[in-house]
Amino acid sequence: MTFDSLNLIEPISKAIKEEGYVTPTPIQAEAIPEVLMGKDLLGCAQTGTGKTAAFSIPILQILTNNPGITGRRRPIRSLIVTPTRELAIQIDESIRTYGRHTKLTSAVIFGGVNQNSQVNILRNGVDILVATPGRLLDLMNQKLVSIRDIEIFVLDEADRMLDMGFIHDIKKLLAVLPSNKQSLFFSATMPPAIVKLSAGILRNPVKVEV
Ligand code: AMP
Repeated sequence: MTFDSLNLIEPISKAIKEEGYVTPTPIQAEAIPEVLMGKDLLGCAQTGTGKTAAFSIPILQILTNNPGITGRRRPIRSLIVTPTRELAIQIDESIRTYGRHTKLTSAVIFGGVNQNSQVNILRNGVDILVATPGRLLDLMNQKLVSIRDIEIFVLDEADRMLDMGFIHDIKKLLAVLPSNKQSLFFSATMPPAIVKLSAGILRNPVKVEV
């Protein structure tokens, strides 16, 4: 199988070719068509399997194909929540790479640094936000971020999120996210607490294990 058989739009397939990718990894081959069809996804996959592209590529394609409102006051359309600053930065970089020929913009927010430069970027309007839970809730409480219009939500490394004590933060986010959204849930392991959390988020998910 090659990326050409995934029916990706030209701006995205061009960026993938520029990266030198020819063959989708197993999780990409399984997940990309399902996510493009609007399905919720439960992905059991570790870092290094290509899972970032498995969710980033279809998100970029869906948002490009269904243009939203434009301008500085436009809502954030996709939210990716991940446990660490390092992962958040990596995901944002991947989205910028795969999305470089689209009109979509992304931003990354994480704790441990002054919020001002992050807030200034958000003020210009972003389509895709990558965030760690604490800083996201903090900016939401200050009314500097709204997640009410999210169309596609990704919870990345859910088991690590639980281990790091973020479960209450995740529950607070879930209470604010719109119910009518597509959700993608990734975890390297699936202990009972993770299965339960995923069941509360996902609707009739496709399961992909690599
Ligand atoms: P991830 O598991 O998302 O952290 O990705 C692991 C690494 O694999 C990253 O450095 C990607 O650039 C690379 N990668 C992802 N998908 C592919 C692919 N289909 N072909 C070659 N490299 C890839």
